[in-house]
Amino acid sequence: MKLIDRTASQLATLLQDGEVTRSEVVEAFLDRIDAVDESVAAFLHVTADRARRLARAADKAAEGGATPGGVPFALKDNMCTRGIPTTSGSRILEGYRPPYSATVASRLEDAGFILLGKTNLDEFAMGSSTENSGYFPTANPWDLRRVPGGSSGGSAAAVAAFEVPFALGSDTGGSIRQPASFCGVVGLKPTYGLVSRYGLVAFASSLDQIGPITRDVTDAAMVLNLIAGPDPLDSTSARVRAPDYTQALVPDVDGLVAGLPKELFGEGIDPEVKARVSEAAGVLGDLGVQVEECSLPHATYALDMYYIIAPAEASSNLARYDGTRYGFRYGVGESPAEGPARPEPGGEDPPPGLAAEAARPGPADLLEMYVETRRRGFGPEVKRRIMLGTYVLSAGYYDAYYLRAQKARTLLRQDFERAFSRYDFLISPTCPTVAFPLGEKVDDPLQMYLADLCTIPASLAGLPALSLPCGFSQGLPVGLQLMGPPFSEELLLRVGFAYEQRTDHHTKRPPLLGVKRR
Ligand code: GLN
Repeated sequence: MKLIDRTASQLATLLQDGEVTRSEVVEAFLDRIDAVDESVAAFLHVTADRARRLARAADKAAEGGATPGGVPFALKDNMCTRGIPTTSGSRILEGYRPPYSATVASRLEDAGFILLGKTNLDEFAMGSSTENSGYFPTANPWDLRRVPGGSSGGSAAAVAAFEVPFALGSDTGGSIRQPASFCGVVGLKPTYGLVSRYGLVAFASSLDQIGPITRDVTDAAMVLNLIAGPDPLDSTSARVRAPDYTQALVPDVDGLVAGLPKELFGEGIDPEVKARVSEAAGVLGDLGVQVEECSLPHATYALDMYYIIAPAEASSNLARYDGTRYGFRYGVGESPAEGPARPEPGGEDPPPGLAAEAARPGPADLLEMYVETRRRGFGPEVKRRIMLGTYVLSAGYYDAYYLRAQKARTLLRQDFERAFSRYDFLISPTCPTVAFPLGEKVDDPLQMYLADLCTIPASLAGLPALSLPCGFSQGLPVGLQLMGPPFSEELLLRVGFAYEQRTDHHTKRPPLLGVKRR
């Protein structure tokens, strides 16, 4: 078996046992990135030299005795990495190199894991296809003409294409689970507060949560072990001790009761997706889980609530990008304009682009600098959200929209509480459809928003949810979503593990890659 075919846990064992060096593992994945990323376009920056350096140093240290870690990984490019470009998929952050690292990045690197690069995303994590990236879209490894989902599409595609054993994504309304579903990999959105958001570029702070994207449930547990737990640098991080999630990986689910919310299984869900999820429910039934239909009455309004609350928070969070502090500033050019639109795999320089604009004669005054920086730096979806958010927060509309959405959010949360008094966990499709063609929804924001129909309810309620591959429709992966009460990650991982032991969907590989897109 080739090194890139190994899961993160298998690689960790091989490294621990000294059967392979960190440098060999890092080279294997860098070769893979070289071979396929021109087609998949999952990476915004590949930190090849740094990874090689770290691998060599760790190999040297390991000569004196075993050291843990060494497994390579990738981060969605909205997680800050000290001295390494962090763009959040936006031209407005082009050239920004943070002076600090996100807690998740530090925790993984402190454990000896090796960063291979930063992955593409919809600008500021707003989108469901990566087509809103300010740089380029990412392709789905199962069909390069289709989207990988979003906004963590780069992370999901990189894992599905075997460019990294695992990656982190962030999920505000579905951005870990939806791309995991489209790319046929495992995605876990933890309970709000379980994983530190320190150093995550903020989109909607009451919803954002970081989590693992992996090839199987065992790896999801291993990665969660490393990133979960309180962080004094994040005041919203939960003061709960994270257990050892790998202990939850026992295939015993006999006697559990699961609900299937009819609101997430009705109109708008593709019949083949329904069929695959019903089959998955049947597999759980065979394992001793009692599955019943249930109801989350307010889930019908979840999209409406989300598209008021998330833009409201975004409009506030994005006020900081005015050209004064980070990245691009209208009128101040530092670097030359020419160059390819995206970096060569292996290169570490940020893609040039707005520098051309920046080199123009300076603005007439401060206001023009703010206005022009934002006009040129933000893409259309981000501007749409800022306008929507500013509108729903403005005097006169605040009560009618924002406050009502927050009240409805409480009702939805209560729906979940009621459901969990009877059911151990809930089952639904992760997405209403399989991956759609690139370009299909990009000019139709409302259609794009529907891609998160099934993932947004758990986000609004702050609940953990796991997406697992559960079969195929038209040759494309379908995702099964498991949702649980707050801090029930162990239960969800156990159910996911039991399901995985009975099925082989997670072992299927995307068709041979290597088709050059450009
Ligand atoms: N697609 C949703 C949006 O555009 C969710 C994004 C996310 O979870 N970051 O807002």
